[in-house]
Amino acid sequence: KETPESEEGNHKTGQDGFITPRSQDFNAWYLDVIANAELADYGPVRGTMVIRPYGYAIWEAIQDYLNAKIKETGHKNVYFPQFIPYSFIEKEASHVEGFSPELALVTIGGGKELEEKLVVRPTSETIVNHMFTQWIHSYRDLPLMINQWVNVTRWELRTKPFIRTLEFLWQEGHTAHATAEEAEKEALQMIDVYEKFAYEQAAVPVITGRKSQLETFAGASRTYTIEAMMGDRKALQAGTSHNLGQNFSRAFGTQFTDENGQRQHVWQTSWAVSTRFVGGIIMIHGDDAGLMLPPKIAPVQVVIVPIWKKDDEKTQVLNAALSVENLLKATGIRVELDKSEQRTPGWKFNFWEMKGVPLRIEIGPRDVSSGTVVISRRDIPGKQGKVFGISMEPPVLEAYVKDKLDEIQSSLLERALSFRDSNIVDVNSYDELKAAISQGKWARGPWAASDAEELKVKEETGATIRCFPFEQPQGAKTCLMTGNPAAEVAIFAKSY
Ligand code: AMP
Repeated sequence: KETPESEEGNHKTGQDGFITPRSQDFNAWYLDVIANAELADYGPVRGTMVIRPYGYAIWEAIQDYLNAKIKETGHKNVYFPQFIPYSFIEKEASHVEGFSPELALVTIGGGKELEEKLVVRPTSETIVNHMFTQWIHSYRDLPLMINQWVNVTRWELRTKPFIRTLEFLWQEGHTAHATAEEAEKEALQMIDVYEKFAYEQAAVPVITGRKSQLETFAGASRTYTIEAMMGDRKALQAGTSHNLGQNFSRAFGTQFTDENGQRQHVWQTSWAVSTRFVGGIIMIHGDDAGLMLPPKIAPVQVVIVPIWKKDDEKTQVLNAALSVENLLKATGIRVELDKSEQRTPGWKFNFWEMKGVPLRIEIGPRDVSSGTVVISRRDIPGKQGKVFGISMEPPVLEAYVKDKLDEIQSSLLERALSFRDSNIVDVNSYDELKAAISQGKWARGPWAASDAEELKVKEETGATIRCFPFEQPQGAKTCLMTGNPAAEVAIFAKSY
C-alpha cells in the first residue's frame, strides 16, 4: 500500500515499546520500528527527518565501507557548494525537465532579492561540469574522478523516513573520461561496487540491471541500478550509476584536447547511494520484534546482559561481564555491556532484540561459577537460537562469537534471497504479468515494447520496469506485450 504523507501522519508512533505486527500493517510496523529503535525522528518541516545516533551509526557503517571502496577504485573526495545558480540547471534540457518539479530555490539572501535565484543542490552534475571546464584542458587531465559525501534536497511530494525525504545524505561520484568506453566501464564498475556492498555487507540480495529509457536519470544516456525486494515485496531502487555520455559536457562545454590536438567533449558518469539504504535494511530484515541488523553493519554486534539478584552476586557477575566485554572488544567486535540497574534483564532482552543486535550474551551467577555464558541469536527466536555453556575464556569465546556473527550474516542473506526468488514470477503475456503484480509479486518477462506500452502497464497495474537485469535467461524471447522478438527480459514491480 502506498503511503501518502497524510496517511503517514495519521499513524501515531512513539517510543512506547509497541510495534504494530509487520504482517498486519507494513507501513505502521516500519514507522514503529524507526521510532522505538531510535533511528530517526520527524523534522519540523514536512518530509524532513532527524537521524538519531543509532540510525546515524548504521549510515556510518555504510559510509565506512563505500568510502574505502570509492578510494580503492581511484576516486578522491571533494566538497562542492550546495547553492547552484539557476541558469546552470537550465543548461541541460532533460535535466531541468526532470528536476524542476523537485527544486528548492533561494530567492532572498541577506534580506535582499537575489539577482539570480539559487537552486539548493538536488544533485551536482551541473556545478561539477562548471568546475570541470576549468580543471580539464588536455587528455593528461583525464580521467578525473571525484566523489562527495553531502546532503541533497529534492522537494518530494510523497515522503517516508529514510526511503524518500526532502533532504537526504548520500555520496555522489562524478567522473570525466576521454572515451565513451571508459565512461561505460566506470559506470559498470561503480554499480558493481554497490552490488557487492549490498550482498556482502548489508545482506541485501539486489538485482542489478539497466533502467528502461523512461526510468533513466534525467540527463543520462544509461542508468544502472540495484533493485531490492522489501519485506512487503515492493521494490526499492537502492543505488544508481549513470553513464551520462556527453550530455552535460556538451551543455557546459567541458572539453579536452586529445593526443592529436583535437578538441573533444569528455564522457561522464555519476553514481550515488543515499540514506535510503538504511530504510532498505530495516524493511528487508526486520520482523515483528523490530530491527534485525546484519552483523557487518550493526552498530552493536553483541550485547552483554548481566543477571543478578543479590548484592554479593552483582560484583562477581559484573566483573565477569566486564572481562567478556574487554575480551571481545580487543578482537574488534562491537560490543555493549548493558549494566543499567533501572531495567530488568527481561526488559533488556526485548529492548536489544528490538534494536536488532545480532547476538546477546547472558551472564548470571551460575555461569560465573561454571566459567561459561549463554548466547542467543537475534535471527533464531526462542530456545532454538539459544546456546548454553560456552566458555567465557579466550580463545573459545571470541572464536565462537565471530563464527556465529558470520553465520548470522550469511543466514540473513540466504533468507532474503529465498524470499526474493520465491516472489518473482516468470511471465509470458500481459495477463500473466497483471496476475503476478496483483498478487504482490515481481514479474519477469521478455519486453521489447514502446514507452507508451510501458506507461500503460504502470497505469493499469501500478508496476514499473525496475530493470533489465544483467543476468538474462538463455534462448529466444517473445515480447510479452507485442509478440515481437525481444532481446531481454525486464522485471516489473510496484516500488517505493
Ligand atoms: P538519482 O540521482 O536520482 O539517481 O538518485 C540516486 C540515489 O539516491 C537513488 O538511487 C536513490 O537510492 C536515492 N534517492 C533518490 N531520491 C531520494 C530521496 N528523496 N530520499 C532518499 N534517497 C533518495
